[in-house]
Parts: sequence; structure tokens; C-alpha cells
Amino acid sequence: MNKAKRPAVIAGNWKMNMTPSQTTALINEMKPLVAGADCEVVLCVPYVDIPAAIEAAKGSNIKIGAENIHYKASGAYTGEISADMLKELGVEYVIIGHSERRQYFGETDQTVNLRSLAALNAGFKAIICVGETLEQRELGYTEALIKYQTKIALTNVTEEQLKNVIIAYEPVWAIGTGVTASDDQADEGNGFVRKAIAEMFGADVAETVTIQYGGSMNAKNCEGLLSKEHVDGGLIGGASLKAEDFSVIVKAASK
Ligand code: PEP
Repeated sequence: MNKAKRPAVIAGNWKMNMTPSQTTALINEMKPLVAGADCEVVLCVPYVDIPAAIEAAKGSNIKIGAENIHYKASGAYTGEISADMLKELGVEYVIIGHSERRQYFGETDQTVNLRSLAALNAGFKAIICVGETLEQRELGYTEALIKYQTKIALTNVTEEQLKNVIIAYEPVWAIGTGVTASDDQADEGNGFVRKAIAEMFGADVAETVTIQYGGSMNAKNCEGLLSKEHVDGGLIGGASLKAEDFSVIVKAASK
């Protein structure tokens, strides 16, 4: 077990939920519940909620992230948000390649790579999501798919930049469905990610990279998932909208 070599990170992904005033209220509720956590605590929120989130999280151990980033510095990209814009707001983390972006908004492995490079070049911590669909799993492609997505996402990323990379293994069939991967399936998927990183950067470096599991992780199942060798944290959707549930997960990751 080399868990001691890598920081545990629990990150909420609020998706398209919460207005700015709701953001302030929820973070104020969470702050005392996660204070003193022995893991990194991150909330990735909708762009319009970022100023309220940064303000509410001031002086606490909660870090704020965005849910996406564009790979161009500026220009005619209606509806997109650049690294400089996020930097100026005080964002520290960025989610990239979430399966909902891939499924509904045409993200490809190539754009995930470009967005990852843009985030890392700007000094953000990048939470890069990979994971197979149910169909891909049933066809027996899980390992190949996870390794392929991981390697393309990390193409041209330097070893130095890799220190700011977190990979979230999120089986698509487990996201927002209430169906969680078993503890062993999560560990296996995260292990495939680590293998891919080892093939690119070497086994010693791979041991230092934080790999989260995401997919219906909640207050009830977090303990078992987080106890697994390769599960260094979680990317949490639904349960990150409930202060009490989120804090239970943070506490489980702090043990
Ligand atoms: C997610 O959005 O990354 C996620 C894992 O969602 P949920 O926890 O709701 O399955």
C-alpha cells in the first residue's frame, strides 16, 4: 500500500445545481462540518457561483474549482470560459472531461487533452475524468478504454505538471444512477489508470498520483470504497449537494 505517498482529495461536482445565494448557504453549512479534515476538500461549482463560493469559503479549508475550462486563451468561442478568467476569480481546481461533457457536449479525448494542457499550463489542479460505458464494460474493453483515455488526456503533460493532475475514474454506468461500482471494481478501474500512468511516466511516479473514484459515492458506501489501495479520494456528484453527507465522505477520507 502506497496511499501515504499521495494526498487524499474529496471533490464535489455540483453540476448544474445551486444559484449564487444557495451556494453561499450550502458552503456556510459545510464549513464547520469539514473543518480540520485530513484530506483536501474541493467544491467544483457552476461558473456563475464561483465568486459566491470563493467568498463563502474564505478562511476555511474548502478549495473552489470550476467544472470545465476552454483550451484557447481568448477569442470567438461563445459560451466558453478561459484559464485567465478562472485565475482572476481565484479558482484552484478544474474538472476536465466529465462523462456528461463527453456525452452531451461533444467532448472528445483530444479536446480533453487540450483542456488538460490549458489548465496545467495556467497552474490549476486538473481533475481529469475517465471511465467506460456499460456497453464497453460488457464487451470487455474496460481496461483498454481506461488506459487509452488516460494516456490521451496526459499526452504532452510533463512529469512536473503531473504533480497537479488528479484522475477520476468514473464508470459512466455509475454516475448519477445510484448504481455504485463495487469496492473491488472501483479499485480495479483505478488500478488500470495507475498502470497507464506507470507506462507513460514509470511506476514510481504513478504511485504518487491521486486517483479518485466517482459514481454514486455516498455517506453509506464511501468507507469501503476509500479503504481500497488505489482509491485515493472521490469525485462526488449528488452527495456533494448535502452538507451532512459530504462531510461524512470527507471524514472517511481523513482516516
Ligand atoms: C459526478 O458527477 O462526477 C458523479 C460521480 O456524480 P454522482 O456522485 O451523482 O454519481
